[in-house]
Amino acid sequence: MRFSGLRVLREGLTGNRGWTAQWRDPEPQAEYDAVIIGGGGHGLSTAYYLAKNHGMTNIAVLEKGYLGGGNVGRNTTIVRGNYFLPGNSEFYSHSLKLWEGLSEELNYNVMFSQRGVITLFHSDAQRDASARRGNAMINQGDDAELLDRAGLRKLLPYLDYDNGRFPIHGGLLHRRGGTARHDAVAWGYARGADRRGVDLIQQCEVTGIDIENGRVRGVQTTRGAIRAKKVAIVTAGRSGQVAAMAGMRLPIESHVLQAFVSEGLKPVIDHVISFGMGHFYISQSDKGGVVFGGDLDFYASYAQRGNLPMMEHVMEAGMTLMPMIGKARVLRSWGGIMDMTPDGSPIIDKTETEGLFVDCGWCYGGFKAVPASGYALAHLMATGQQHETAAGFRLDRFRSGEGLMDEEATGSQHNLH
Ligand SMILES: Cc1cc2nc3c(=O)[nH]c(=O)nc-3n(C[C@H](O)[C@H](O)[C@H](O)COP(=O)(O)OP(=O)(O)OC[C@H]3O[C@@H](n4cnc5c(N)ncnc54)[C@H](O)[C@@H]3O)c2cc1C
Repeated sequence: MRFSGLRVLREGLTGNRGWTAQWRDPEPQAEYDAVIIGGGGHGLSTAYYLAKNHGMTNIAVLEKGYLGGGNVGRNTTIVRGNYFLPGNSEFYSHSLKLWEGLSEELNYNVMFSQRGVITLFHSDAQRDASARRGNAMINQGDDAELLDRAGLRKLLPYLDYDNGRFPIHGGLLHRRGGTARHDAVAWGYARGADRRGVDLIQQCEVTGIDIENGRVRGVQTTRGAIRAKKVAIVTAGRSGQVAAMAGMRLPIESHVLQAFVSEGLKPVIDHVISFGMGHFYISQSDKGGVVFGGDLDFYASYAQRGNLPMMEHVMEAGMTLMPMIGKARVLRSWGGIMDMTPDGSPIIDKTETEGLFVDCGWCYGGFKAVPASGYALAHLMATGQQHETAAGFRLDRFRSGEGLMDEEATGSQHNLH
């Protein structure tokens, strides 16, 4: 079924009896050409592009819970293409372009809202770094504008510009950045993959990876063994554990990241604001809730929930930036498990086991990467060659030290920045 305004009108006039399930609920088959472990944003988009771009339709996505129940449905939905380092910048630039046509591509309204992302700076040195990043973004073909204090005040009059510790000197505005509806992204890719014949199998946990003579043969699951010529591990915060089933030790440490939403408020914040020095960022959802978050917990964990010390830290940062936020009431908070690499950049690569691939290490920024990651992994799985936009995301950079992409210059332990 294609979605359209006409369809909505027709269903509205006929009692909404014509809507059908958006994807099938198939039983797992004994064998597939390819199996993708993980029904998050990256797994679903990989399945979609394998089917659409490469004609591979005898494939399955295996999800231990429900589609979109992981980080793809837990993030704060920020999409941006403001990366600095070659290797990252062309990849995120490609992703932003895919975002711009995504609703049409999927025939699914992902509610991509290019409201602009503003990254604040608080000193002359930070202004110089922002100017440099902006120039790199423009060189990449993306947009960037350096705003001084007066220019910023026109857009964001409600910030505290004279905070003693972090006085605001200006901001880097990236107009094509913004937010999207996270669930819709998962559902749109799921529906698109299903329509092309991909089996989406929920409540199916992968418990083992079968390897013979250095080649992957399939997976063991809670719903039986499934043979496959190609297997991709696309399990975000659980990547380390799933890769261990294939005898691999990934350079990944998993950490909790929390987020918060307030009660619905009248429109007040019409950009995404990033206050890096305070570990705080904020936007307002279309429903009116103010959505905000902060930093990782600085210890490794698989707990998919938040905790009070980080909550206090985030609230303090919010009050520092915009004291008016103290009047809003927090509705709820939640957490997701982040797959952190040492250099803060992701991995999309083959492994030493033939036919086995990994896509992980998205740290706290993998939502914006969903389209380009699936695009690149599908290309790699189908052709055996890295897609040009993801050529730098090699796994062996952590063994050799060559080609590390330390985007935020945080040293060898990005999770402790
Ligand atoms: C609070 C928070 C805020 C964030 N904010 C942003 C943001 O604003 N912008 C941005 O770009 N990024 C953001 N992120 C990061 C982004 O959400 C993630 O990097 C990205 O969603 C990870 O990829 P994914 O969608 O494939 O992961 P997931 O949705 O977690 O998918 C992985 C799936 O694998 C499944 N799985 C695991 N083990 C197995 C197994 N053994 N068998 C079968 N299935 C398995 C899981 O159940 C899960 O559904 C945020 C994350 C969080 C938690």
